[in-house]
Amino acid sequence: MKQEIYGHLTLDSMATHVPHNFKVPDGTKTLRLEFTHTPEHPGVGNIPHQLSISVYGPNGARGTRHNNDDQQPIISTNWASPGYLSGPIEPGEWTVELDVHRILPPGSVDYQINVFCENDVTDSKGPKPVPMRPDSVRRRGPGWYTGDLHGHTYHSDGDFSPAEFLEEAWKRGYDFVALTDHNTQSAVPEITSLAGEAMTILGGVELTTFNGHAVVLGVSEWTEWRVKDGSSMSALASHLQDRGALYIIAHPKSEGHPICTGCRWAFSDMMPGPARHVEVWNRGWAGSHNEPGLRQFYKWLNEGFRMVASSGTDSHRPMPPEVRIGSNRVYAHDNTQHEILAGLRRGHCFVTSGPEISFTAETEDSKASMGDLVKPGQLKLKMGWSVGLNGFDPSDLEAVLIKNNEAFGRWSCGDHEDSEFATISEEADWFTLELRDQKGDLHALSNPIFVGQQVGTWR
Ligand SMILES: [Zn+2]
Ligand SMILES: [Zn+2]
Repeated sequence: MKQEIYGHLTLDSMATHVPHNFKVPDGTKTLRLEFTHTPEHPGVGNIPHQLSISVYGPNGARGTRHNNDDQQPIISTNWASPGYLSGPIEPGEWTVELDVHRILPPGSVDYQINVFCENDVTDSKGPKPVPMRPDSVRRRGPGWYTGDLHGHTYHSDGDFSPAEFLEEAWKRGYDFVALTDHNTQSAVPEITSLAGEAMTILGGVELTTFNGHAVVLGVSEWTEWRVKDGSSMSALASHLQDRGALYIIAHPKSEGHPICTGCRWAFSDMMPGPARHVEVWNRGWAGSHNEPGLRQFYKWLNEGFRMVASSGTDSHRPMPPEVRIGSNRVYAHDNTQHEILAGLRRGHCFVTSGPEISFTAETEDSKASMGDLVKPGQLKLKMGWSVGLNGFDPSDLEAVLIKNNEAFGRWSCGDHEDSEFATISEEADWFTLELRDQKGDLHALSNPIFVGQQVGTWR
């Protein structure tokens, strides 16, 4: 059975969701959708319109494949196109929704969606997943673990298959890696099964909205990402955090429209609202948006929000070796999804392109590591670094102690491997430790040590 849907989009359609309902008869085993639009390419450079096809069944979401050239999804009982979810095809009313991320001038787009309901299952596509290094068992127990919190496969707009994504994480020596495809978790089961005991997988998604992106970790099933019908990003974030998810504002100062439409954080109710995590290092440090993102993090700290910084490679395909990516070093009680997320939530973590850092504080009657609170008053800060691990000469790097967004002390990493600093701190002060090179580029960043009375109660 074939159903045809027609529609027209204008510049005003941008940043809207356009639903079309269709009927699925009893006995359907496979749905095939064909989406086409004209003109295919607008006359603005080589930037295309950006339209995603989301599908919803009577029992909930069946996925999307964001920003991908394949716009002919198949959803069957035994298989689905990447980005979509296989399973029973319930009879009744279904919805195909266009997520209109970007429309470029002149902005007159005609589209057609053909829907085919078929009674046969589709031929199962692709080889069966082969476990990655089945004999390998990851390190466990209390300790420091390294990993990435942000990356994509071809289930959205990446080039990686799930197996290639894991291979890349393995080459980088990670203990854990998060999979965060845009608006879908369809690859999480496959990647978790592929990883076996060799690596910890953080199931996640990148909420890819029209006004900003957020990496959400610890959610392996479809998550509402649309801010519409009176909902707000702040309500979505609170709901996710209440369910135990870790919510990270991604690349807050990314370029926006038309180069990366929707990528810059622009939720006025989320500055930072209930968010407590910010991705300050996205892709390579040298990207133009990271330094402003770090400034935004420091601004929020100065406003009294106690927040945690993280990094994400945002890998869609292998990174060229010259791109200096950051990774997250997390102190966790164990190398499991639950404990890695707990370590990140506590702020017991730092971001680095290689150097190790340590950063602790002592008062007469309290001690703190990064992410923790100490009481106001006489304070001794202890800093350590082990550089030369990312190919940089230690004498090219400088350790900088930051207090409330001002440089408070500086040490050449070639002359010192650690230092102490005594000061009097006041309520609401915060301190971080940065390692920077002579160009001023960041190589490592501790999470803050906060000063406040309510030790241990703020999170
Ligand atoms: Zn993003
Ligand atoms: Zn991303």
